[in-house]
Amino acid sequence: MTTSKSVTEPIVADIAIVGGGLAGSLAAAVLARAGHRVALVDKRAVYPEEFRVEKIGGPQLDMIRRLGFIRGLENAGCLYDRVLNIREGKVVDVSVGQAYGLPYANLVAMARGQIPDPSSLVVDEVTAVSCSDDVQHLELASGQRVSARLVVLATGMAGVLGYKLGIRRRVLAERHSVSFGFTIARRNGAPFDFKALTCYGERTSDGVDYLSLFPVPAGMRANLFMFRDPTDPVMRDVRRDTEATLLRLLPGLQPYLGDFHVMDRVQNWVMDLSVVEGHLQPGVVLIGDAFQTNCPAAGTGVARLLVDVERLCTEYVPQWLNTAGMGTDKISQFYSDSDKVAADQQSLKMAHFRQALTSRNDISWDVRRRLHFLRRNISHRVDQMRPGWLAGFRSALRA
Ligand SMILES: Cc1cc2nc3c(=O)[nH]c(=O)nc-3n(C[C@H](O)[C@H](O)[C@H](O)COP(=O)(O)OP(=O)(O)OC[C@H]3O[C@@H](n4cnc5c(N)ncnc54)[C@H](O)[C@@H]3O)c2cc1C
Repeated sequence: MTTSKSVTEPIVADIAIVGGGLAGSLAAAVLARAGHRVALVDKRAVYPEEFRVEKIGGPQLDMIRRLGFIRGLENAGCLYDRVLNIREGKVVDVSVGQAYGLPYANLVAMARGQIPDPSSLVVDEVTAVSCSDDVQHLELASGQRVSARLVVLATGMAGVLGYKLGIRRRVLAERHSVSFGFTIARRNGAPFDFKALTCYGERTSDGVDYLSLFPVPAGMRANLFMFRDPTDPVMRDVRRDTEATLLRLLPGLQPYLGDFHVMDRVQNWVMDLSVVEGHLQPGVVLIGDAFQTNCPAAGTGVARLLVDVERLCTEYVPQWLNTAGMGTDKISQFYSDSDKVAADQQSLKMAHFRQALTSRNDISWDVRRRLHFLRRNISHRVDQMRPGWLAGFRSALRA
């Protein structure tokens, strides 16, 4: 790790990545492993305990595996392979499939730990970026400078640097959702009777999408996702009187949790959905949340950033570096990549779907909501009576 205190010779790299959250750290590791000279600049040596994604599973795991991070994830996270899904105290269905729970800071540390040369991480704040179709330059708060053929902006939701380049954030939905994260345990110290559990909201007026409970190294983690005015007094109740408010909002939870308490600080986050404009510029490319934010309830942020990392770092950057120049003709290939575009669109679609499924109370959404849970419950019952039959039937239909 390099901490740039005194002004020295500029750091020269093929690719300079600004922001070492999950997107930037994964990108740095993938590119450095492929033999490229990478400088990853982040203002913090260790990612702080901020509330972000805390579980990785489903199709995200295939991408993590393809990119070569599965061993690191297995070592850092808590494995679980069954999620009991309930609503109004009754079982909807059971999701089966591997997933890992872990704090976001540990996930980022795992990704940074996969960068072959630790001195590729420069702990400093980037204060200015100047880009062209030839060489790019970064200025750091310490006075240090970095030059590179390509700059990757992976600065998350902090938009200042992009703003200086004329890149704007268009807010698609202000204060779209509210998320809470905390850790729970039974008062008598006994384990819970489930590995992981999802409890869906019962009434549209509550605005509760779901509470997700899953294991992390410190215990049983809770992520509560809501679509409701962040200034509503219930938000304060969730933070201050968490146990009683949870049971008030989700009364069907009581028999599953028993006498429980919250073990740590309740963290919360209000999310705006936004996407950048004016980003097609020579020499610079935006990935992860720096390009588009995601609704935490939709759980699409990691899938999006993994697609960004995989397409940019395994397909485009190696090609771009093979020829002179870094003009917009090259950069636009990434932004119009069909997998990337599909992942970005799917993320927005899911954000709007989850909000409507949770809080719309007109007749058509009321019917859709009932059908949604009924369909899942019927599939679950069929699966219990004839295991594997439904999966076979579905794949026969697709063939
Ligand atoms: C509460 C919450 C819950 C979520 N839950 C889920 C979920 O369940 N499933 C899911 O898929 N997604 C979820 N997400 C989304 C997911 O966490 C994000 O998509 C992902 O963390 C974005 O990673 P990133 O690397 O793009 O940004 P970040 O992790 O924010 O990293 C940005 C980095 O840039 C650095 N930086 C910024 N500016 C500078 C600068 N000028 N100089 C140097 N460094 C700089 C910062 O220090 C930081 O390290 C959730 C998000 C939130 C907020």
